[in-house]
Amino acid sequence: MTNEYQIRVVPEVAAQEDRLKVWLADEYGFDVRTICGLRILKRSIDARQRQIFVNLKVRVYVNEQPHDDEYLRTDYPNVDGKPQVIVVGAGPGGLFAALRLIELGLRPIVLERGKNVHDRKKDLANITKTQKVDPESNYCFGEGGAGAYSDGKLYTRSKKRGNTEKILNVFCQHGASTAILADAHPHIGTDRLPKVIEAMRNTIIGCGGEVHFQTKMTQLILRGDQVVGCVADKEYEGPVILATGHSARDVYRYLAEAKVEMEAKGIAVGVRLEHPSQLIDQIQYHNKQGRGKYLPAAEYAMVAQVEGRGVYSFCMCPGGFVIPAATDKQQIVVNGMSPASRGTQWSNSGMVVEIRPEDVYTDKSCNRDDILNVMHFQEELERMCWQQGNMQQTAPAQRMADFVNGKLSYDLPKSSYAPGLISSPLHFWMPKMITKRLQEGFKIFGRNAHGFLTNEAALIAVETRTSSPVRIIRNHETLQHVRVQGLFPCGEGAGYAGGIVSAGVDGERCAEMCAAYLQQKY
Ligand SMILES: Cc1cc2nc3c(=O)[nH]c(=O)nc-3n(C[C@H](O)[C@H](O)[C@H](O)COP(=O)(O)OP(=O)(O)OC[C@H]3O[C@@H](n4cnc5c(N)ncnc54)[C@H](O)[C@@H]3O)c2cc1C
Repeated sequence: MTNEYQIRVVPEVAAQEDRLKVWLADEYGFDVRTICGLRILKRSIDARQRQIFVNLKVRVYVNEQPHDDEYLRTDYPNVDGKPQVIVVGAGPGGLFAALRLIELGLRPIVLERGKNVHDRKKDLANITKTQKVDPESNYCFGEGGAGAYSDGKLYTRSKKRGNTEKILNVFCQHGASTAILADAHPHIGTDRLPKVIEAMRNTIIGCGGEVHFQTKMTQLILRGDQVVGCVADKEYEGPVILATGHSARDVYRYLAEAKVEMEAKGIAVGVRLEHPSQLIDQIQYHNKQGRGKYLPAAEYAMVAQVEGRGVYSFCMCPGGFVIPAATDKQQIVVNGMSPASRGTQWSNSGMVVEIRPEDVYTDKSCNRDDILNVMHFQEELERMCWQQGNMQQTAPAQRMADFVNGKLSYDLPKSSYAPGLISSPLHFWMPKMITKRLQEGFKIFGRNAHGFLTNEAALIAVETRTSSPVRIIRNHETLQHVRVQGLFPCGEGAGYAGGIVSAGVDGERCAEMCAAYLQQKY
């Protein structure tokens, strides 16, 4: 017999299967010895009150062994000799597009400018060792894309656009813990993601697809208004799913020159804010002792409106690291990642201000017709930050309360940012439209969460890569470019996703529309 229950228990019961069995037996009148297994179907933490509870939906197997699958498997047929589709970019958008193409009986040829996820790791370590960034292999470029060395958060606010459950199940099929199917805020962790990504690549190759690393697309092959392939190390033939992410500025420049229609899009810009994780645990769990043994590192989400623009926390990494995420030599860009355990001494998040395209037209010399203005704004700020950071990857930083009070920090707290920090008056040199709003936003956050606004926390500059600075315009239904046939702008770089799961969902949708396009054509 199997029964499902929606229950609310204290963290120590939720975390220990034996205790949970005893609790269920008491509550529902079983003999505990008859419970052969449990499966957690949903799990969320309710930290609104002093006493923390964990809400669980649990399946109990009484007098029978668990027999059902833990996740839904997808069948991937052999696609040798089938029509081919070029997928540019092996981030989540590109990888999920390639897997879905296989499901639909098409042969994906994946072109990725960076290295495989294993070799990429050495280049990431080199950023700290040499203070230099490899423009082709870094935290944004390489197998797994920008999501490979991340927190691996797998929740998305957009449920409308497609099947997010499918994306999670495909991750499980490739080695992710099935806990991601239960958790309200699932995450994989940067130490586990590379293996999952490698397994996805092996599925693609095992089914007859191809994956080429260090192979950068430089040009589309156009026949009139139709894409028939692209140029990389050689010419590749087929329709193109373009999933190159939000940092491939050379791709945006090329598309602008080739007059492939795009539109300017708003972004969000700010800093990484890093607190001791213990402090965030104390605040969020209302307990001086912090999270204790049975709760995970605490998360937060903050949002305020200041002078007509949103100020909010972004991509929070509890128990994580701040990392150098630039993609070129003379830039500093910061971001965050965390291991599966979320066990470091720090918790960080992007603290960003909404920037609309019209906000960057303040410079008189700015050409308002330039579709890449928002991108130029990002570039200028990243370069300025690099100059402030002694022209290395040491990032300019300031204590949080000092920033709010407009004071230089004489020293800085210990940080997870490996290339090192340098004290800098961010309130002084960063654009006022950002700093003024961040200062006000931090005051509001400090009032809402006592202890949050503190000099124990540091702001680390600059966080600019929150989303794409343009949208490559596509037809809502066919997902093809609005004019150029056979071109499927995909994922975050095209302006249609924000995060691993939504990029995966968009990849699947582009693959489906590409299959429909090929069917119609032949
Ligand atoms: C450090 C960090 C942490 C993050 N943490 C999270 C998180 O926890 N959860 C979450 O949901 N999101 C997170 N994100 C955001 C998430 O990674 C992105 O939203 C997601 O990866 C976008 O997927 P994508 O496939 O559209 O693009 P990308 O992942 O950016 O992939 C694009 C790929 O295209 C390749 N490429 C670019 N140009 C070319 C070319 N010309 N030829 C061939 N290949 C090319 C790139 O090398 C790259 O591999 C994080 C991002 C970063 C940088």
